Amino acid sequence: MKIITLANQKGGVGKTTSVLNLGAALAQMGFKTLIVDSDPQGNATSGLGFDKRAFSPSIYNVLVDLMPIDKALQPTSIQNLFLAGSGKDLAGAEVELVPALARESRLKGSFAAIKNQFEFVLIDCPPSLGLLTVNALTAATHVLIPIQGEYYALEGLAQFVDTISLVKKSLNPHLDFLGCFLTLFDSRMSLAQQVQDEVQKFMKEKLFKSIIPRSIRLAEAPGFGKTIFEHDAKSRGALAYLDLSREILVRMEYLCELNHSLGTSNDRDSVMAGESA
Ligand code: ATP
Ligand code: MG
Repeated sequence: MKIITLANQKGGVGKTTSVLNLGAALAQMGFKTLIVDSDPQGNATSGLGFDKRAFSPSIYNVLVDLMPIDKALQPTSIQNLFLAGSGKDLAGAEVELVPALARESRLKGSFAAIKNQFEFVLIDCPPSLGLLTVNALTAATHVLIPIQGEYYALEGLAQFVDTISLVKKSLNPHLDFLGCFLTLFDSRMSLAQQVQDEVQKFMKEKLFKSIIPRSIRLAEAPGFGKTIFEHDAKSRGALAYLDLSREILVRMEYLCELNHSLGTSNDRDSVMAGESA
């Protein structure tokens, strides 16, 4: 089971949108996938059509009450895609966990019970470096960073990369930095190319080639409780997330090379043609 945490302490950079649409892309390819909403805002939970105030049992119960995570899972409207949702109490967990035993590794501990049930787990984090994000980084095998394609994109990123190193050193030596990708990218903005060059210089080969464009379709989908593939599967946003999911699978050695016939098939067998692992 590969556990990918999407994190960036900056708000509104596309973490949740990416968790939802990458999760849906992987599920459509046939990978049994779990989305964990570890953000008290509950946007991943509502984005999948659930009532975030009423989601119970939730990740709160897993973290604070040590409830087995398999009791907190719900199937979604997408085949192979499951949710461990955020409930109304999750904001309190950040404080309630402070005196708790093994407070940084509670989410990690919960995953032992489902390690044979899922191929991918994607964790959505709040825009902060508190205990919820630390739990998500401690539980992860990989960390993936969405970066908004705007002028101050790199601000705070160095601090976040330091946090990842710290977690790696003290809590999770097996954590791999999978890479980062540009989101909310508007190529009509004259600064866009400059921002891309700057991020490229800082991140080097860790920057994925796939770029998520700023797109109205992507912004409106969660309002319907849908991922982009149910809302408009042929939109630029859907193709971009499909592209990114394949690039991720290549980097994780599930695929040996990119097949650029985007949007022609969601069938795992064809996507997995040329599979190396
Ligand atoms: P937070 O830090 O608050 O959790 P986030 O990093 O999870 O935010 P999102 O919620 O995914 O960011 O995105 C912020 C806002 O931008 C949302 O309203 C979302 O619908 C919108 N959005 C995200 N990605 C795109 C995109 N590529 N094009 C247009 N709108 C987008
Ligand atoms: Mg979010």
